[in-house]
Amino acid sequence: MSVTRIGFIGLGQMGLEMAQNLFLKISKSSVSGNAFVVCDPSPKSVERISAFCKENIPGHRLDVEPNPLEVTKKADAIFTMLPSTPQVKAVYLGESGVLQALNSLRSSHASRSPRLFVDSTTLDVQFARETAKQITDAGAQMVDAPVSGGVVGARAGTLTFMVGGPKVAFERSRPFLDMMSSRAIHCGQSGTGLIAKLCNNHILGINQAAIAEGMLLGLSLGLEPSLLASIINSSTARSWSSEVNNPVQGALKDKSPPCERGYLDGFASKLMLKDMLLASDAAKPVNVPLPVGERALKLYEEMIHADDHGTTWSHNGALLPRKDSDFSIVYDYLMQLQVPLRHP
Ligand code: NAD
Repeated sequence: MSVTRIGFIGLGQMGLEMAQNLFLKISKSSVSGNAFVVCDPSPKSVERISAFCKENIPGHRLDVEPNPLEVTKKADAIFTMLPSTPQVKAVYLGESGVLQALNSLRSSHASRSPRLFVDSTTLDVQFARETAKQITDAGAQMVDAPVSGGVVGARAGTLTFMVGGPKVAFERSRPFLDMMSSRAIHCGQSGTGLIAKLCNNHILGINQAAIAEGMLLGLSLGLEPSLLASIINSSTARSWSSEVNNPVQGALKDKSPPCERGYLDGFASKLMLKDMLLASDAAKPVNVPLPVGERALKLYEEMIHADDHGTTWSHNGALLPRKDSDFSIVYDYLMQLQVPLRHP
């Protein structure tokens, strides 16, 4: 691989881990002198990536830029990993954003080969498609490439990318995606990567609520957690939520799901709610009924809303908002809803 100019915008929980893998593997696979260009309004995020690059890839340049416009000017392939639709709008279409840079580069004829944009944010499908069209019309290439695998997969470089966009743009992004993942799947035209991601998380949200209900029912009727979990996991109700993310302490003896560490370090409930709302929005134009998903969505919504009224989760003496805890904490919320039996 020749000298590469790579941009990364959005270095939060996922983006930081992804950028670290990408920068490290590029620096190992090519001549020295690559330029890495980053942007994130959070000083903590910038400090972390700067410290990583200084320690691990000292021969390669890292430029920290104040906005996406400057990143776009300096890089050929740009990755974005942002919270959701409003941030993608600001980065791509806002003031000092990507589109503004592309337009100025085009008018000054400064652009060489088309710039490549890979957005891994989970966001609104329709908005993503419209944005990709504007970016493409301005002379660049763009794919949506949301991920599955969480922070653990991002750190290990074992994510799954679901990619939507022109095949040629997918093929161009593939060597980079391979550096951050075990699998990159081209799903079809722009937006289809996001559709796959939203379908997956729609089902996941339902499954996690279902295992929480089933476990609470069994335990309340006298079963022991690990016995019930082992029966479910060798029976027809098993899923990732039952096998890896069982929400009850002691249920998975040989694993360490978030419930074993106070529901910390998992997939935040607020992100699950966001994704289920996005799936619900995606269903509207095609009139697909989502009766089960809508009920599960309401459950997460109520749980997060209950936090706003002071009924947070307590762990090690600290009061924590459930919205920031792993979404398997829905089990704890159901326990709270369980009306205690009155004994005569
Ligand atoms: P995060 O909030 O930790 O990180 C987002 C980063 O974007 C932050 O560092 C923030 O400062 C930065 N940012 C916000 N606005 C910006 C702007 N205008 N310009 C530049 N940077 C900006 O979120 P995350 O957990 O890393 O998730 C990112 C995306 O990945 C979300 O869409 C999420 O749904 C998806 N996702 C997350 C997980 C997970 O386990 N956390 C798993 C799969 C997918």
